[in-house]
Amino acid sequence: MLRMDRVYPDAAVGPEQARLDSQAPSSGRRPEGSAVLNVGIDIGGTKIAGGVVDAAGGILDKRRVDTPVEVPALVDAVVAMAEELRSRHDVTAIGVAAAGFIDRDRSTVIHAPNIAWRNEPLRAVLESRLHAPVSIENDANAAGWGEFRFGAGRGRSHMVMLTMGTGVGGAVVSDGALYRGGFGSGGELGHVRFLRDGLLCGCGQKGCLEQYASGRALQREAAEIAARGGIGQALADVRDADGTIHGTDISRLVQAGDPGALEALRRVASALGEACGGFQAVLDPEVFVIGGGVAQLGDAVLEPVRAAYAAALPGGGDRPTAEFAVAQLGNDAGLIGVADLAGRGR
Ligand SMILES: [Zn+2]
Repeated sequence: MLRMDRVYPDAAVGPEQARLDSQAPSSGRRPEGSAVLNVGIDIGGTKIAGGVVDAAGGILDKRRVDTPVEVPALVDAVVAMAEELRSRHDVTAIGVAAAGFIDRDRSTVIHAPNIAWRNEPLRAVLESRLHAPVSIENDANAAGWGEFRFGAGRGRSHMVMLTMGTGVGGAVVSDGALYRGGFGSGGELGHVRFLRDGLLCGCGQKGCLEQYASGRALQREAAEIAARGGIGQALADVRDADGTIHGTDISRLVQAGDPGALEALRRVASALGEACGGFQAVLDPEVFVIGGGVAQLGDAVLEPVRAAYAAALPGGGDRPTAEFAVAQLGNDAGLIGVADLAGRGR
């Protein structure tokens, strides 16, 4: 159970000071040798996942519930999950990750795509109910930080993570720090324009990378190949049997070596790799970490990504190139990352 006198040992010290204090290696507030634990909660489109995370990124306790549709019920669910987890563990801080643009002060959700949050002061709302320091973070940034600290980006200083899910999540770690930009909303690599006058994106723009390199794009490409016949026959059979082509169907066919499914994957992986050539020019990472369900296909996705990256790299052949690695923490990356950020007070 978290006590306010532990978090704010001096009544004159506010939350911001407590955040700075929490970064000190030895605050004197804990018994010698006790592990620092933080709660991380990742609000996804269908599930809210929460866990108690230790200083090594290990999850000691985990909870998952369906994501409520209405905002008051969603906030209640986050509060209830945090209360339940800290009732069983001595936790320091609570981190909450959600899709959306977060402001520079990490206090307000400026715009969330799937939740009716517009300039929502989420940190203050949660701190007033939980009486504990709360950090909020964009979900892709949280996952990227988790991979940087404890997963495929471990040991590096400069990392880009791209998550191929419903959209394309982006996270940038530069010189060991999460890059958020001047207004807090940087690193949205999925919304870099990939094609002029391209497909309409949920952000209001046209031609964003995520329309060409996401899990949803993979399904669209598979449907298009199925409609053409020829190498799309196996995909067409799946479509005719199920009414649609699920990502799991495509994965199964890729692993079986089906030419239609491999072509669909080549298209989206090539789009991602081509964009990475441009990201190298701007950000020059040591490693690109590829996450999301599509990345679980491993080399089948990484090989076409690498090929398109090499072809699109400015100055290619003469400059150091980045490695490509599959994310290691799976769906837990976001809650692990946001717990670690909360523990650092940022
Ligand atoms: Zn967009």
